Amino acid sequence: MTNYIDEFRDKAVIQKIVDCLNAYSGPKLKIMEVCGTHTMAISRYGLRSLLPKSIELLSGPGCPVCVTPTGYIDTATELADNRDIIITTFGDLMRIPGNNSTLLLKKAKGSNVQMVYSPLNSLETAKANPHKEVVFLSVGFETTTPVIALSVLKAREEGIKNFSVLTANKTMPEAVKTLAEDRELALDGFIYPGHVSAIIGTDFFSYVAYNMEKAGVIAGFEPLDILYSINILLKNISEGKNVLENAYSRIVAKEGNIKAQQKMYQVFEPVDAVWRGIGLIPGSGLGLRKEYENYDTMKKFDIKPKDSPEPKGCLCGEVLKGKKKPLDCKLFKTRCTPESPVGACMVSAEGTCAAYYKYGD
Ligand code: SF4
Repeated sequence: MTNYIDEFRDKAVIQKIVDCLNAYSGPKLKIMEVCGTHTMAISRYGLRSLLPKSIELLSGPGCPVCVTPTGYIDTATELADNRDIIITTFGDLMRIPGNNSTLLLKKAKGSNVQMVYSPLNSLETAKANPHKEVVFLSVGFETTTPVIALSVLKAREEGIKNFSVLTANKTMPEAVKTLAEDRELALDGFIYPGHVSAIIGTDFFSYVAYNMEKAGVIAGFEPLDILYSINILLKNISEGKNVLENAYSRIVAKEGNIKAQQKMYQVFEPVDAVWRGIGLIPGSGLGLRKEYENYDTMKKFDIKPKDSPEPKGCLCGEVLKGKKKPLDCKLFKTRCTPESPVGACMVSAEGTCAAYYKYGD
């Protein structure tokens, strides 16, 4: 396994690709890495510093925790005040600031907030606490949603009634479409996430390339994967070819993971969703189908969505659209640090501000 990974960090091979990239002498290009995992890898391995100045990498909205709006956090923290409710969640969400509190602070004050690695763990919590309601904070892209769907199916199969999910699940395609249409942003191409593509397949990203005339490449997450993918993009853009290439074919098949798609759409259906910074994007979210509404926290507790303001001075929304960089934010490294974050982009392990803070620009 180590050898396998080492091959993707081979300095001599990387140098060859870097030389190719630095031979580029065309106009300035703006390329967006849509996904937070890529953003973190690019920063961690210092890949930006290996590129010529004419290639600008912009970070996109592919961090699920970052794009979850403040109103959702406020709903979750309010639910945490109810002593009959146990909140279960992935770790990053615990520290995202809401308008009044965070889940971590609520926990410190006695709320029952538990970190889990899988929504399936939440079912065990529900079984062990039959007199409490267990609410799982259902946040994630296509990589995470299938297992959340499984947890709902399992809850129904086992007759677990004290379990529900507070959904803020998002899908990548409609957001990419919005960014591709953004004239102010004027992107030249996209680097697409290998893991999301492994689930949804390549068709939509091909559509963006051929119909919206934005070249794209599906990339893995090792340094060589990313540089190789940028090189492919560069070549195609230079030659005026608006095509999609799959540079992660060792994992991604054209049709994606059909089983995962079936489970996901058995339980969920497309809904309009609000993205932090971008606003409402029609059809970009996933909500529970009517037949599973008993597991929908909003319906179970008759909750209305909150339209909470974003933290004052935080440019996270603009950062998520690739229009600002963390260094443009006056709060970066002053009032906003990983220990005391103002916005979600400084908290998440995939957040752009966290990446810039940890590894520099
Ligand atoms: Fe928001 Fe902090 Fe990033 Fe500024 S540095 S944009 S306050 S998360």
